[in-house]
Amino acid sequence: SKVPPIILNNGVEMPQLGFGVWQVPDDEAESAVATALEAGYRSIDTAAIYGNEEGTGKAITASGLPREELFVTTKLWNADQGYDSTLRAFDTSLEKLGLDFVDLYLIHWPLPARGTYVDTYKAFEKLHADGRIRAIGVSNFLPEHLERLIGETSVIPAVNQIELHPHLQQSAAREYHAEQGIATEAWSPLGQGKGLLEVPAIVAIARKHNRTPAQVVLRWHIQLGNVVIPKSVTPARIKENIEVFDFSLDTEDLAAISALNENRRLGPDPATFDGA
Ligand code: NAD
Repeated sequence: SKVPPIILNNGVEMPQLGFGVWQVPDDEAESAVATALEAGYRSIDTAAIYGNEEGTGKAITASGLPREELFVTTKLWNADQGYDSTLRAFDTSLEKLGLDFVDLYLIHWPLPARGTYVDTYKAFEKLHADGRIRAIGVSNFLPEHLERLIGETSVIPAVNQIELHPHLQQSAAREYHAEQGIATEAWSPLGQGKGLLEVPAIVAIARKHNRTPAQVVLRWHIQLGNVVIPKSVTPARIKENIEVFDFSLDTEDLAAISALNENRRLGPDPATFDGA
């Protein structure tokens, strides 16, 4: 494969770059995921709330790729937190995907005011022990949520998927994850493509390497050790976003991008978000 793996804390290999499908309608997901698989992506990031597990699963089945060459992530939605409801929601996700196991299952948000993520995670541990999930993890957890989870459960999460891009570099979270052996996965790695790809420092680095701004930002993540899951429905961009393993940023480039941090979130604050 074009994409090198990282080794999760339970020995499972996860491609360092995958394809995200948030906001891709179910009837477009099949062709978008098919394009990604043709371009060489082997990791797909979906979620129950995205409403496109069926389209995603159709592309996976139609690809004819051996299941063991693929890495499929889905996420438990907030309304399904709790032990029994998690077991039911997982069955529904597997059925929609048309799979008999997933590679990674994530708690989508911690919802700290509800206090249900520990019970939810205990259901994840059961599904993992039953061989239906190869690695279990979380998303949008702050270090304080991880600390409670690790104190009250047995399996250290393999991954925490958090908002992370040059305007929100998350150094404290990344450091805490590294101490605990948790892989950091960046969501909205391109800052949702908004102003970030026009920032002069990034445009200048792209020119210097004869690459695109998106490739520079993705390469910055890769050199930091993050897992990335850029999203696009445009075939040329889908292809462009995986072509980031044949060049390197130098220390000067990395420093210039590090200087762009503004601690600015595009998404909700996990400490207070309680979305249904
Ligand atoms: P992203 O940072 O991947 O940006 C995607 C957008 O950037 C595209 O819609 C397009 O407008 C633009 N873009 C993509 N490639 C480009 C290119 N080569 N050149 C120019 N513009 C380009 O944003 P995202 O979709 O929010 O995040 C990626 C994935 O992360 C999602 O699809 C989803 O799988 C995951 N995610 C997870 C959570 C969570 O709570 N766990 C939240 C948001 C996203």
